[in-house]
Amino acid sequence: MASQVHRRQVLLFLLAVLLPCSVLVVLGLRMIAQEHELSEKRLEDEQQRLLAQVHDDLLERLERIKLREVAALTGPDTPGVATPGVEIEVDLVAHLRDGRLVPPWATGDGSEIARRHLNENRFASAIREGERRELIVGDLSGAIRSYRLALRTADQPIQRAYARLMLGRVLQKAGQPQEATTHYRAILSLPSDVTDDLGLPMWLYAGTRLLAADSAVAEVFDRTRREVAHRRWFSPPEVYMVRDLVAALASSEASSTFHASVETLSDSVAQRVSLIEQTLALQRDVLGLGLTTPVAGTGSAEPKWVLYGSPDWLVSAAQPPVSSSVLVIAVRAGDVFSSVSEAVTLLSALGPARLSSSGSSDRRPLGPSFPGVEAQFAARDDGGFFAPWNLQRSVYVLTLLLVLGVTLFGANLLFLDVRRELRLAELRSQFVSGVSHELKTPLTAIRMFAETMRIRRPSDPQVQDEYLDTIINESERLTRLLNNVLAFSNIEQGKKQYHMEPSSLAAIVEATAKAMRYSLEQDGFELRVDIQHDLPSVDVDRDAIEQALLNLLTNAMKYSGDSRDIELRLSRKNGLASIEVSDSGVGIEPEEQTHIFERFYRAPTQDNDRIPGTGLGLTLVQHIAEAHGGHVLVQSAPAKGSTFSLQLPLESSST
Ligand code: ADP
Repeated sequence: MASQVHRRQVLLFLLAVLLPCSVLVVLGLRMIAQEHELSEKRLEDEQQRLLAQVHDDLLERLERIKLREVAALTGPDTPGVATPGVEIEVDLVAHLRDGRLVPPWATGDGSEIARRHLNENRFASAIREGERRELIVGDLSGAIRSYRLALRTADQPIQRAYARLMLGRVLQKAGQPQEATTHYRAILSLPSDVTDDLGLPMWLYAGTRLLAADSAVAEVFDRTRREVAHRRWFSPPEVYMVRDLVAALASSEASSTFHASVETLSDSVAQRVSLIEQTLALQRDVLGLGLTTPVAGTGSAEPKWVLYGSPDWLVSAAQPPVSSSVLVIAVRAGDVFSSVSEAVTLLSALGPARLSSSGSSDRRPLGPSFPGVEAQFAARDDGGFFAPWNLQRSVYVLTLLLVLGVTLFGANLLFLDVRRELRLAELRSQFVSGVSHELKTPLTAIRMFAETMRIRRPSDPQVQDEYLDTIINESERLTRLLNNVLAFSNIEQGKKQYHMEPSSLAAIVEATAKAMRYSLEQDGFELRVDIQHDLPSVDVDRDAIEQALLNLLTNAMKYSGDSRDIELRLSRKNGLASIEVSDSGVGIEPEEQTHIFERFYRAPTQDNDRIPGTGLGLTLVQHIAEAHGGHVLVQSAPAKGSTFSLQLPLESSST
């Protein structure tokens, strides 16, 4: 029965508290998750916006560069295009003719003219004669003469340079290096458009010869440096020759400062080489890149900047307004990226966006105009616990926990309260059955003896007295029970009053012992009374104290088990009057001792199931003791017996 009630309680508790709590938790978590999704979405939107901004900015810059280059190409007469903020240099501007990239070094017919001049009859025959003598016949002085003749007949710079080159070689062979050097020097000072039939500048040949002979090193270096500084483009064979020349300079014997300068020169030549090689590669691949040019005026196609090569180039095509051929423009991607990213960082609070063309996590394509270019956002710093989002989430979580805590706490209080009420209801019902039981026993006895006397009046007056005594004794028991119930009812209603008057405790104790004597004897108890008579009279409610003692004595009888010894003592202890009732009965478990004074409480033992009781006796005893400014103590051990002490102040009494 009790466990059923308990189960129902638990079930109700689960329904009433845990269910709403779980709903609350689920809703709370859902809310937090939604908020999280929302913030992710906001971040996503912000990144998209930033991406679009970077895309547009980058495109605008690059298109401006394109316009600038187109304007520069169409000539200085064309009204210039203002390009503020576009300082970025382009690496390459080249025409695309008939599907072929025309490299910027292809200057046209220079080598053709040189060939014509060198093949001019008189000059060419003198050179041929010199070569025959030098290389076939081995007649060096004859060769010198022939070349000198060629030099004299020469009327073009290339012819003169060529004749000097031949002359220098043969003079060197003939052991006249100084004169050879003079000729080479003369060639070295020629402008670079004096080229041979291969398009290679003549000074390069002279420089190579001079370095081989280890003479005029400084002049060769100067010339090379000037050339590298002023010439934007070399043709591929030219640049390789320059590179070899610089390598020869580096291996020449010279001071360390000179070497440092050669080192610098060598670096810039290496850059030229890579620029030219990349241009050559682009020449091969340009058609595969899918560069589309916007049709002028219609704006039908998106301008496209394609990532190409290493170092990365952004390559695009442009259609100059007056030319039929398309222009291909290549810009170094790194430069443009860094300039744009800086601008974007200033605009965005999200953190720097970095444009990248190589692997990293969380990259996004920048947009249709930049195939292959990806943007990467810098890792977001959440800012720890106090970041706005974190703070919000923490507030949610804390509120949720608080609500849960308060709900559970309230539910727990409610649960305890309900349990107490239930327990009280249980105790009350126990009380009713206890009272009925207690009433039944004396009533049955009274009725039985009264009826016996009526049916057959006992002739023996002693038997008659015995019957009457029993009837009186049982009715006294009934009176005691009813007194207890009445007193408790008064206490509950706050109506209980005590009438204090100076009384002798010894007299009260004796009177109580006397009142109980018959009952005790009937049940075979031996009551030992020990009264200390020198106690002063105290202000007490005599009836109440008697009632308390009767209750204690009745309990001693009820819970004596097989023992038949009861002691009743009155003494002074620690300045108090102490009335003690001891038995050697069943005793009380220590954990029960704190509960036995509670109203309706009966220790849940097997013995108690058989012993009638209401659970009110000790409640009354305690109330009476406290009303007199005293208290009740219990000393008990299971199976050994109990001593209850009613202790009252001796000097004065309260209420
Ligand atoms: P009742 O005796 O009617 O049950 P009481 O309030 O007088 O109610 O006592 C409360 C409980 O205390 C009893 O049910 C019993 O278990 C325990 N009790 C009281 N007096 C004694 C005693 N002398 N020896 C053992 N147990 C006792």
